[in-house]
Amino acid sequence: MIFNVSHAGNETTVTECRCPTCRNVQPWSDECRRCGTDLSLLRRLAEESVRLQRVLLAAMTARDDALAELTLRRLMQIAPTPLLDQLLRFVTHEKERHHPPTYYHEA
Ligand SMILES: [Zn+2]
Repeated sequence: MIFNVSHAGNETTVTECRCPTCRNVQPWSDECRRCGTDLSLLRRLAEESVRLQRVLLAAMTARDDALAELTLRRLMQIAPTPLLDQLLRFVTHEKERHHPPTYYHEA
C-alpha cells in the first residue's frame, strides 16, 4: 500500500500515503514529514488513479469496451493488481464478442 483512499458518497479522495523512502504513513502532503522525500509525484499518481477509476466505472456502465480497455491499461501502468488484470481480460473478451475480427465473417 502506497496510498489510501476514502469513499464517501460519490466522492473518492486520497487521504494518506506511505513514504516510499522511510515507509512512514502520514496524511497527504507534498513532502514526507519524517525524511523530507518529495511526494508530489506520488500524489499526482494517486489522484490520476482515482480519476481513472471513475472513468472506468462510467465506461463499463455505458458498455464502452474500448474506453474501458484503454483506462484499465493506464491503471495497470500505475499500480497493477490481480483485479485490474481480471477486469482487463473481461473487457477485452467483451470487445471481441461485440466487434469480432473480420476474419470471423469470411467464408
Ligand atoms: Zn519519508
